[in-house]
Amino acid sequence: MSEVPARTLHSVEAGPPAIELDAAARAARVFLEALGVDCSTPSTERSPLRMAKAYAEMLTSRPFELTTFPNDEGYDEMVVVSQIPVVSVCEHHLLPFTGVAHIGYLPGDRILGLSKFARVVEMFARRPQVQERLTKEVADWLGEQLSPRGVGVVIEAEHTCMSLRGARVRGAVTRTTALSGLMRDNHATRAEFLDAVERRA
Ligand code: ZN
Repeated sequence: MSEVPARTLHSVEAGPPAIELDAAARAARVFLEALGVDCSTPSTERSPLRMAKAYAEMLTSRPFELTTFPNDEGYDEMVVVSQIPVVSVCEHHLLPFTGVAHIGYLPGDRILGLSKFARVVEMFARRPQVQERLTKEVADWLGEQLSPRGVGVVIEAEHTCMSLRGARVRGAVTRTTALSGLMRDNHATRAEFLDAVERRA
C-alpha cells in the first residue's frame, strides 16, 4: 500500500516545562501552613516535598518514541483499543481525574503499534487538563500522525473535584467523545465504534 518505511516520531509534546522541585516543596509548605496543616511533626515534615513530587509525577509524561508503520497489508477494518487508563489533573482545581479511554481508528497509509495508544493518552493527560480538551487533543494528534480515514476517542472519567468537593457526587462519570473523518460522517462506522465502546469487556 505504501513504500514509506517505518518512521519514528519524537513526542515533542511530551516535554514538560522544567519542574523546580525544591521551589515547589517550599511553596507547598507555605500553602499547607496557610491552610492550618502542621508541617513540623515527624510524620508531616516531609509532606511538602512529597506533595511536590506527587504533583510533579502527575504533571509529567514519560518520554516515548512513537513509531508508525506503513500499512503494507492494506488493513482497512476498524482498530479499537479499549480501557486505556487515564490519570490527569483538572486545571481548575488541580485535583486528579481518573478513568479510561477508548480509541478507534480506520487505518489509512500508516498504522500505529497498539501499545503506543496508551502512551499517547498519557502524553496529553499528564498536564493540567480539562477532559473535553484531552479527548480532542488525542484525536487530533492521531489524525495528524496517522492520516487515518477516521478517528474516534471516548473518555470516561470521575473527577475528584466533583466527587470530593463541590457537588460531592461520588461515582458520577463524565463521558466525552471526539470523532473525525468517517468515524464522524459515516453513520454505520460511527455506530460500529460506539457499539464497540459500549460492549468492551
Ligand atoms: Zn475541577
